[in-house]
Amino acid sequence: MKLRICGIRTVWDPVGDGEFFCPGCGGDRNYRRLTGRRRFAVLGVPMLRRGTVGPVVECAACREHFGTDALDHPTTTRLSAMLRDAVHTVALGVLAAGGTTSRTVLETAATIVRGAGFDDCTEDQLCTVVEVLAADTGHGSAFDPAAEACGAALAIELHEALEPLGPHLAPAGRESILLQGARIALADGPYGQAEREVLTTVGGALQLCAQDTARLLAEAARTPS
Ligand SMILES: [Zn+2]
Repeated sequence: MKLRICGIRTVWDPVGDGEFFCPGCGGDRNYRRLTGRRRFAVLGVPMLRRGTVGPVVECAACREHFGTDALDHPTTTRLSAMLRDAVHTVALGVLAAGGTTSRTVLETAATIVRGAGFDDCTEDQLCTVVEVLAADTGHGSAFDPAAEACGAALAIELHEALEPLGPHLAPAGRESILLQGARIALADGPYGQAEREVLTTVGGALQLCAQDTARLLAEAARTPS
């Protein structure tokens, strides 16, 4: 009979905690961030330091250990907030490009933004934010189709709101955000030039290729709402 009398043992020290999406048990969980100290042990008793390992992330629910890259994935709560913000920003972009004079367009936009999770969003609120956006970017009129659809500032806003979502959404999820923007633009008739430009920026920020964006926009325009 062989007796195991010595070996390397790892002692884990907590160095932080938080909430993450656990890839092991699949949900928002608390985690502890751990660094390990490797010790040479005799009869299970740690003796000598043998350097550090980790850090790792330990799920409070299933106790499984993951690399710290597990923290790169947003929690479900965070992801739904990102989605809500994305739809809101797209709605503002389309309104800034197409104008806020059409009641149908405003109603469609408010319905879509409420559906995305901003329960108390109203037509008037959207209108006000779009006016502030237009004033910020120095365009006297957002209704001039030749104007660059609120220009660079808006494009940056769209990229900031949409790009972080890209790696976490299936193509259908990204397409759905674009199509919600298209529905707002189409509520008062065909796309204007500025609306088309904003929606093309949206498609790009969502990492949809130019052909797919163009195809989706054309399909949306053919489908009676
Ligand atoms: Zn877990």
